[in-house]
Formats: sequence, structure tokens, C-alpha cells
Amino acid sequence: MWYDRLPERALEPRTYGEESWPRCPVCGEETDTLYCNESGDIVGCGECIHYVDAWQWKEEQYEF
Ligand SMILES: [Zn+2]
Repeated sequence: MWYDRLPERALEPRTYGEESWPRCPVCGEETDTLYCNESGDIVGCGECIHYVDAWQWKEEQYEF
């Protein structure tokens, strides 16, 4: 049958047209924004990176 040739899972998009968005290497979500650290390593994207109030985070750290 015709669909026997299809791979079980398409890990990478084969075309990079306007319908194919870049994917985050961390969470795999399609995104147009990636975040990297000082070394240039991708640490996440707009889908899996969220801003945290640093003052609130600091207070939570000192609770332990
Ligand atoms: Zn992500």
C-alpha cells in the first residue's frame, strides 16, 4: 500500500517553507523565539522559558 513507505515518526521537518516553523531543541515546540546562554547554547524557547519575578524567587529561596 502507498502508506507503507512513510516513516513511523517524522523527527525532522523535511521542508523549510513558510508552513514549517523552527523547533525548540529543548521542548520540541514550534517557536519563533529561542533563548541562549552566554555560551551560545540554546536553553529554551518562548514556549518553555517563562519570566520569574527575581525578588519573589529570592524570597522563596530564603524560606528553606
Ligand atoms: Zn522550548
